[in-house]
Amino acid sequence: MKSLSILGATGSIGSNALEIIRQFPDRFTVIALTAKTQVALLARQIVEFTPRLAAVVDADHARQLRALLPPALDVEIVFGEAGYVEAATCRETDMVLGAMVGSAGLVPTLAAIDAGKDIALANKETLVMAGAIVMEKIAVRGVKLMPVDSEHSAIFQSMAGHGHHGIREILLTASGGPFLNRPAEEFTSITPRDALRHPNWSMGSKITIDSATLMNKGLEVIEARWLFDIDFSRIKVVVHPQSIVHSMVSYQDGAVMAQMGVPDMKGAIAYGLSHPGRLPLDVPSPDFAHIGQLTFETPDRARFPCLSLAYRAGEQGGTLPAVLNAANEVAVAAFLDNRLPFLGIYQIVDQTLNRHCANTGSDLGQLIEADRWARETALALIHRQER
Ligand code: NAD
Ligand code: MG
Repeated sequence: MKSLSILGATGSIGSNALEIIRQFPDRFTVIALTAKTQVALLARQIVEFTPRLAAVVDADHARQLRALLPPALDVEIVFGEAGYVEAATCRETDMVLGAMVGSAGLVPTLAAIDAGKDIALANKETLVMAGAIVMEKIAVRGVKLMPVDSEHSAIFQSMAGHGHHGIREILLTASGGPFLNRPAEEFTSITPRDALRHPNWSMGSKITIDSATLMNKGLEVIEARWLFDIDFSRIKVVVHPQSIVHSMVSYQDGAVMAQMGVPDMKGAIAYGLSHPGRLPLDVPSPDFAHIGQLTFETPDRARFPCLSLAYRAGEQGGTLPAVLNAANEVAVAAFLDNRLPFLGIYQIVDQTLNRHCANTGSDLGQLIEADRWARETALALIHRQER
């Protein structure tokens, strides 16, 4: 029996994880669940999975959550960053599923590692911001870090039995998002509604916008750099619109290992939770004859310049990836709020990176300060555009 804390339980990854857990009650038990503000859904999850602790963003939402729960239900409700840390470090917890969105996942994830918990990580922003610190802690504490992002799960699976030996390149596949074939001159009219319509994957809104700009793939390049300890020059992105090949690893003898599956996150989540075993899921294998063709192409960096921004920030290192990530979070939120055009996302992140001259060290305090500075700077740039 594996005891789990799920950070971001009400999201797309969190809900999919609970769907898996529901099917395997003899394998998993839930110790803690967290959400930001979605108290109604969280309350239903608490009633069903009976964790002993739940955390939300603030005292107000904690009160709202309590009011929605049967008075007799024995669950401790905590809030704020300290509450998320408590959820991530419960004594009984074996593994923490990091499924919060954004840099809010960083501190609880680090606390979980410090507390000796195994980690299944969907929250890529944590690795983008502080990959070196996370990986060092993982090594020092000797805990397991399982990638949940489908590409990284695929790379992990493609390396099984080979380890790091003889790797030539990592090939991250990208669906290309909803605008893969849209001409550049039509990018100015893209609305949040257009961008939220992902052709293959159903995900939370932030990552769906990141997929439309290809920033998601850029963040994943940085994520791969840390998870697999490989130089940026050996991480390539290849557009694969069918999203069947989830990623590949090429070896020095020319062999390429790929992991395939239908585009359903349940496979990667379940593998992260159950490794080294595989769970019998109600997810079909791809019907290749029906799919017919698997195609691959080079990403168009002119129409999707966010990809190059991410490589630039990743290669320069230091505080730049944290700045990239924070500026992107702010810009995506403004776009979703109809306060910034689609192309503005790239512009805001680019301008914020250009203004960030400090890039001194990269200890945790400096990264958190860079994140704060980048949010403030990106917001100010957005306000200036609005005037
Ligand atoms: P989502 O928006 O559907 O859910 C996010 C969850 O985090 C919710 O439970 C929400 O309440 C919580 N949350 C949001 N902001 C928070 C904050 N400031 N503090 C505390 N909790 C907060 O997101 P998602 O699509 O499930 O993605 C979660 C993470 O997994 C992201 O980092 C994303 O990049 C990554 N990921 C998602 C998918 C996918 O298919 N959805 C695939 C790969 C990776
Ligand atoms: Mg992914």
